[in-house]
Amino acid sequence: MEALGTESNPLRVAVIGSGPSGFYATEVLLKSDRHAIIDMYERLPTPFGLVRSGVAPDHPKLKQPILVYDKIARADDFNFIGNVSVGKDITVTELRQNYHALIFAIGAQTDRKLNIPGEELEGSYTATEFVGWYNGHPDYRARSFDLSQEVAVIIGQGNVASDVCRMLAKTVDELKTTDIAEHALEALAESKVREIHIVGRRGPAQAKFTGKERKELGNLQHCEAIVNPSDLDMNPASLAELDDKGNSAGRKNVDLFKSFSSQPQSTKSRRCVFHFLRSPVELRGKERLEQIVLEKNYLEGEPFKQIATGMGEYLELDCGLLFRSIGYRGVAIPGVPFDDQRGVIRNQDGRIANDAGEVIPGMYVTGWIKRGPTGIIGTNRADSVATVDALMKDLQNFDPKQVPGAAGLAARFEQLGVRVVNYQDWLKIDSQEIERGKPKGKQREKFTQIKEMLSILE
Ligand code: NAP
Repeated sequence: MEALGTESNPLRVAVIGSGPSGFYATEVLLKSDRHAIIDMYERLPTPFGLVRSGVAPDHPKLKQPILVYDKIARADDFNFIGNVSVGKDITVTELRQNYHALIFAIGAQTDRKLNIPGEELEGSYTATEFVGWYNGHPDYRARSFDLSQEVAVIIGQGNVASDVCRMLAKTVDELKTTDIAEHALEALAESKVREIHIVGRRGPAQAKFTGKERKELGNLQHCEAIVNPSDLDMNPASLAELDDKGNSAGRKNVDLFKSFSSQPQSTKSRRCVFHFLRSPVELRGKERLEQIVLEKNYLEGEPFKQIATGMGEYLELDCGLLFRSIGYRGVAIPGVPFDDQRGVIRNQDGRIANDAGEVIPGMYVTGWIKRGPTGIIGTNRADSVATVDALMKDLQNFDPKQVPGAAGLAARFEQLGVRVVNYQDWLKIDSQEIERGKPKGKQREKFTQIKEMLSILE
């Protein structure tokens, strides 16, 4: 039999998910010394995952990796198979029958829970849905957020919290030329939010803001950042964390908070107040959110391993709007072992393993669904290199028989009545979005409904 990974018997790999980790895995496979053909499955008609629907509209530079992904997608041995949901339209078993290997790169699609009373009150939302909504993700297009409230609270002090804060703190004039979804811009134009509280369960040294997300918290044109100076007192373990050479992010965050604590009062129309060492313990309200109860914490443990423990002292803060921005969480896909506690696909260095710890041949995972929702876009590159490395090492054990790839599923797609969206189709959607944006001075006006996207392909 012809060796696997040659012209006459190419290695056929299905990559599931079209975000950064999926594209980086594809890039490494295409550059390998084997002849590989990659079919990338995506449940939406649009590629690029969180770079399209997670990166904040006011950070267009962060979307530049799309230029790299576009180049990868134009390779001869790459096929985009959009508008096909693996686990729903087609099963993992069907995919396995048609490919030598599968790489799951499906990211982390939902959010962690606070598990406190009142979490589901009207007015309490997840950052995930807000981010999806302002970025025009079809799943969140129909959501509405009560922006008639004056006081908003964001739980969590990571980069997503910074994104959400800016979207609430910026004026429509500051946002209107970004690629923010039209429905979000219209709703934000009516926003009454004037006070934003960003709550961290640990101290200023443990805030997770980085790069631009940190810097811009101090550069908001119409929103004053406020930190109470006494909130910057830190315990010895936190001071040791700041002394650590590798922790420049921690030092930069604390320096920023210090600058907020000493700035003179301004006349800016909005305020953003940072709280540290406070955990939400209850959301209160009769029919909707009216108040949050925050418990004061102290930190215990070694530097970099400190955890927050409640002190039994409480602060009640009236608020009508709340976003939980405490991290994403992966969603299980039928037929793939899932670690429910961590919200990731069970794996050993990228090789998917069953509950007994046995590796399942030909099944791999990369990105947030492999390691959890950490790191920036570029972090996924190294992760995908490692996963493809594992795949290449295993190649000698693969069954070298020829498999058809997507051609083996064509009849199945027809039977399902699914309009498969290929990369050329996406380029049509892309150019129409760009055209729609031009009269408004926007980089693009996204289609936010799948049916709109498909209608231009008819
Ligand atoms: P994150 O960075 O993990 O931050 C989550 C925040 O929520 C932390 O402050 C965490 O505090 C807090 N938290 C977690 N569980 C909590 C609980 N039960 N109660 C109260 N607070 C809780 O997550 P993220 O902001 O969602 O970001 C996800 C990833 O995307 C990060 O790697 C981030 O850097 C990346 N991202 C990058 C960009 C960019 O580069 N432009 C933009 C957006 C997001 P503890 O520290 O105490 O756990």
